[in-house]
Amino acid sequence: MTPASVAAAGNPGVRVPQGITVLGSTGSIGQSTLEVLALHPQRFRVVALCAQRNHQRLLEQCMQFRPEFAVLADRTAAETLRLALRQAGLDTVVLAGKTALVEMACHPDVQVVMAAIVGAAGLPPTLAAAQAGKRVLLANKEALVMSGPLFLAAVRESGAELLPVDSEHNAIFQSLPVDFARGLQASGVERILLTASGGPFRERDPLTLDQVTPAEACRHPNWVMGQKISVDSATMMNKGLEMIEACWLFHADPEQVEIVIHPQSVVHSMVSYVDGSVLAQLGNADMRTPIAHALAWPERIPSGVPALDLVRVGQLDFQAPDQRRFPCIALAYAAMRLRGTAPAMLNAANEVAVQAFLDLQIRFTTIAQAVDACLQALPVGAADSLEAVFDADERARAWTRDWLGRHALNPR
Ligand code: NAD
Ligand code: MG
Repeated sequence: MTPASVAAAGNPGVRVPQGITVLGSTGSIGQSTLEVLALHPQRFRVVALCAQRNHQRLLEQCMQFRPEFAVLADRTAAETLRLALRQAGLDTVVLAGKTALVEMACHPDVQVVMAAIVGAAGLPPTLAAAQAGKRVLLANKEALVMSGPLFLAAVRESGAELLPVDSEHNAIFQSLPVDFARGLQASGVERILLTASGGPFRERDPLTLDQVTPAEACRHPNWVMGQKISVDSATMMNKGLEMIEACWLFHADPEQVEIVIHPQSVVHSMVSYVDGSVLAQLGNADMRTPIAHALAWPERIPSGVPALDLVRVGQLDFQAPDQRRFPCIALAYAAMRLRGTAPAMLNAANEVAVQAFLDLQIRFTTIAQAVDACLQALPVGAADSLEAVFDADERARAWTRDWLGRHALNPR
């Protein structure tokens, strides 16, 4: 237990609010996090809000939460924010650049860090929070995919608390025994059942997948999310990244994680035990539930999400994923079996290809082809330092950009 929660347990009347940094506050998860925090001002105090360049939204958030610090990675946007805050009469200190993100993740007034930056850009501050022994609420799955063993070693050495926010991993965490860290087998776990909605193209004719537009790919049937994860859900690379995330978080082999399509997104994932029991966590498809769970664990607090009405849901369906329609699933399993820098390369190639698709440079189906080509072309090394991870990340990005240039809709 942290000092603040111990104080709270002794006397709820004198609860000391925990300081929190929200990395990626202007995004989908960041905004949901602030909605939950707004319900619990006596529990949490926002110390720092951090984002890339959306100064308008960050200004609104600063007016509402009055943090000590506001950080934008983009220096020009940070300057605009600084002027606007001064005009609004707020004394929030504005910082700019990547090192400021890391500073806010380690700040001594901060006990809790919400890691909700999208992609590899989130790794340095998220890892820094783990090294500094914070409670890390992990939404930024790419950080863990890239640096699994390094990240877990940092958590172990510092005594940080790592709590999954990704809805599936939060569900698995809730369905596992508390001492699962001694090993899945020792805990009587047979398999982790990672549920997936199947995204917007679960039933679309595979022969037409090369024609889909970014708008169609981002129109997720059950969740409203950032663009990158929406495209990842459409290719099902999101589920591949989540399988890797689950392996690191729960000490599982890829063979112990089975992906199950569940179109309603009501069962957020399950754990199957050796005695035949299957434990699941259910809820409405709303990220405020796992966010509130991770914020308050091991306590429970209201999230603002209405109770699940199972009678209204009526029916829960499950089916096996179509691996031919979604080649990214097999690519993720292959990368995880290779270990080392392979998951970081998978992630980097995917980030570059997804951006090229969103920029209308390549077809939807080229995303998986690019990741496959990159994994086949580049050697896998040991992921034993942050430098090694980012070196692999950069080489995979450069290689994929070059390959995509030759496989674009309008080749260079
Ligand atoms: P988003 O695109 O809506 O928001 C991303 C946030 O990251 C923004 O605040 C943006 O300003 C910030 N950001 C991006 N690049 C940055 C940089 N270089 N420096 C500083 N800040 C930067 O994304 P999202 O949907 O909120 O997803 C965030 C993370 O959470 C992703 O890793 C995603 O996989 C994960 N996640 C999201 C959901 C969801 O429902 N949205 C669910 C599970 C996991
Ligand atoms: Mg998820």
